[in-house]
Amino acid sequence: MQEGEIKLEKGVFIISLDTELAWGTRNLEKYGGHYQKTREAIDRLLNLFAKYDIKATWAVVGHLFLDECKKVDGVVHPKIVRPQYKDLKGDWFNIDPASNINIAPEWYGKDIVEKIINCKAKQEIGCHTFSHIDVSKEGCSEECFGSELDECKKMASAFGLQLASFVYPRNRVALIDVLKDKGFLCYRDRDDNCFKNSEERLRRLAHAVDNYLCLPVKATTPKKTNGIWSLPGSYFYIHKDGWAKFIPISFRVRKAKTGIDSAISNKQIFHLWFHPFNLASDPDGLIYGLEKIFIYFKKMKAEGLIENMTMGEMANYLNSKS
Ligand SMILES: [Zn+2]
Ligand SMILES: [Zn+2]
Repeated sequence: MQEGEIKLEKGVFIISLDTELAWGTRNLEKYGGHYQKTREAIDRLLNLFAKYDIKATWAVVGHLFLDECKKVDGVVHPKIVRPQYKDLKGDWFNIDPASNINIAPEWYGKDIVEKIINCKAKQEIGCHTFSHIDVSKEGCSEECFGSELDECKKMASAFGLQLASFVYPRNRVALIDVLKDKGFLCYRDRDDNCFKNSEERLRRLAHAVDNYLCLPVKATTPKKTNGIWSLPGSYFYIHKDGWAKFIPISFRVRKAKTGIDSAISNKQIFHLWFHPFNLASDPDGLIYGLEKIFIYFKKMKAEGLIENMTMGEMANYLNSKS
C-alpha cells in the first residue's frame, strides 16, 4: 500500500455516470438519434436502481440543471470565463441554443435532474463541469475551470444540493487544486489498469483488445493527493457503437463480475462507469446486462461481502478514517 491509501473493511461497488446529453459531443450529427433515446434510457436505469436499491453518482453537466437560458447583451452565460483553445472557432458557447427545453431538449436537462433526485434509491448528483470543457487542454485557465465550477455549485444549490464529487470530461485530469479549493471531496481518476499511462491512442487500442479478450477487471484503491480523494475507475461499461458492436453483452457482465470478485477479495473498490448516452446504442441489451450485474452484486451483498456507495459517501467515509 502506498502513502495516502486506506484499507477498506470490505469491498465497495461504486457507479459513476457521465451525464451530458449533447454537451459531451458538442452535437455531433452522427449521434443525433442517441440524444432522444438517452432520456428513455435514463428512466429505465433509474427504475433498475430503484429495483435493486443501487446508489450511483450522476456527474451532471451543469447546463443540464437548466430548462432554459438566454443571451444577456448578446452573450450567453456571460459570467463564465471561456476556454481559449487554439482550434476553437469563435465563442465556446456558440453551440448553446440559448432557448429552452421544448425547442432544444438535448441541451437542457432539468427534468432529468429532478428524476434522479426523486429516485427511490438515493442517488448523488455530482459535477462534470458546466459545459463539458477539456480541463487538461491548453487554453483552459484556472479562472475558466473555476468559473464553470462556481456556476455548477450555484445551479445545484437551487436544488438544495451540495456538490462533492467530480468527473473530468474525457477523464482528462488536471488543475486538481482548483477542484479542492472549490470544496470538492473527490474525483474519478483514470481507470487503474496496466495501460493507464500509455499515450491516448495506444490506450484506446489496448482498451479495445482488453474488451475483446474479456480480461479480468482489477478493483482499485482510493488515494488522497493534495487533500482530495482520487477514486480511479475500474471498468467502463462499453457501449454498442463502432468496434464494440461485436462484443457480446455477456462479456460486459463477465468483466463486471470479475471486478466485483476482485473488490471482495482485496477489500477494494469496483468502480463501474459509463455515460447514460452510451445505453442508447442498444438500450435493451445494455440494460439487460446491467440487471445481471446488479443481481450478482445483490447476492454478494446479502452475504455481507460488499456494499454500494456513492463517490461522495466514499469520500466522507475515507475522511472519517484518515
Ligand atoms: Zn445556455
Ligand atoms: Zn463527459
